[in-house]
Amino acid sequence: MKVSVFGLGYVGTVSAACLATEGHDVIGVDVNPAKLAMIGEGRTPVVEERIGDIVAEVVASGRLTVTDDVAAAIHGTDLSLICVGTPSAPNGSLDTTYLQRAAREIGEALATRDTDAGRHTVVFRSTMLPGTCLGVLVPILEDASGLVAGQDFGVAVNPEFLREGSSVKDFYDPPKTVVGELDPVSGDAVLSLYAGLGAPEFRVEPPVAEMTKYVDNTFHGLKIGFANEIGALARELGVDSHDVMEIFLSDTKLNISPAYLRPGFAFGGSCLPKDLRGLVHAARRHDVRVPILENVLPSNDEHIQRAFEHVAATGKRRVGVFGLAFKGGTDDLRESPLVELCERMLGKGYDLRIYDPAVVESALLGANRAFIEAHLPHLRDLLVDTVADVVDHAEVLVVGKADEDVRAALGHGTTVPVIDLVRLPDAASRRQQEGYVGLA
Ligand code: NAD
Repeated sequence: MKVSVFGLGYVGTVSAACLATEGHDVIGVDVNPAKLAMIGEGRTPVVEERIGDIVAEVVASGRLTVTDDVAAAIHGTDLSLICVGTPSAPNGSLDTTYLQRAAREIGEALATRDTDAGRHTVVFRSTMLPGTCLGVLVPILEDASGLVAGQDFGVAVNPEFLREGSSVKDFYDPPKTVVGELDPVSGDAVLSLYAGLGAPEFRVEPPVAEMTKYVDNTFHGLKIGFANEIGALARELGVDSHDVMEIFLSDTKLNISPAYLRPGFAFGGSCLPKDLRGLVHAARRHDVRVPILENVLPSNDEHIQRAFEHVAATGKRRVGVFGLAFKGGTDDLRESPLVELCERMLGKGYDLRIYDPAVVESALLGANRAFIEAHLPHLRDLLVDTVADVVDHAEVLVVGKADEDVRAALGHGTTVPVIDLVRLPDAASRRQQEGYVGLA
């Protein structure tokens, strides 16, 4: 394939050189003449293991050339990878200036590209917030070219997952290939570029691809902060943090796995909140600052507050709640976020009916009776026996648990607003439904 790479920094240089070793004919484009000159002489502008030899080899073989002529690059290639920088603006927001400039120049070049040369696909590799491709860059490309994206030329988002320091290795062995495609032909073009690398492939809409990169980096930051806070605390408690983390990491069933990583409602129960509180308290006693750990529970509380605000925004007062225990499959009410939500609503004078058969059953059988009498007498009389009792009462429904009977009652004919905390199985089609608010 004939490929142009815009932006010859860490990502662009490695992508351009490695694609050339894979047999593609690559043209590198940059606004920095010093970088063009270096690569033109077969020297790398970035320091990375093996990249010096690779650049020298592909430049000598003629598979990698450079130019500052955007039109020549676009006219002579089938696909361009945009790897320009997306730094933070002084206020922390994303600066898309370089992306916008590249998109405008590429759009102008597309306008004069020979239509017999086949369709050109513009692929954004830079990290950018969801909506940037469709909301900012596609309009610029279309405006500058006078052409229609997804028809006259292709567009895709293809985030880069390489790590500086091992970027050549990561190029040949990526953890995944994510393609946010404007149309399937655009996605096919991107995937044919990486044919043979063998990474799992995900074809999604552009905003999903854009967001994927942020999720990865946020989680990496969270993990590093988490490990470092545990390390700092363990040290003060006289525990070897590496021994502890080795055991933690060995557990791929619960700890390092997709478990607990599905967006949903707040967590609760008798363990997680208590244990977080206990650890944070120990950190305070030992004068160890652990802002990440300290903020996990406040973050959790935000989900409860958000749910409450969505109920309040409906302006309705009679609320039906499905679920009261802290999660599905249990009657355990301890530190249940649904109890907290109900209490917040009661405190503001809402009129509730709550359906959770597991809780009702154990309240009758006795397992929960003492707990409800002692801690939740104000909720006891609001528990009802059937889904219909809730539906008949409600002007707004809150779904905190969605067993079969609840799902059946929530057929698409439901006329009252539905605040879905757990992501109903048919949430995607419900999003079009008036009054449906999916929080997960
Ligand atoms: P960089 O700053 O090293 O390189 C960007 C290059 O783009 C520079 O050489 C600059 O001169 C050039 N450029 C700017 N405007 C241009 C234009 N209009 N036309 C042509 N070239 C232009 O940046 P980087 O570290 O390679 O990162 C690039 C993007 O990839 C960023 O969005 C970054 O967030 C993302 N990313 C970086 C890494 C990483 O490890 N560095 C990993 C994954 C993703």
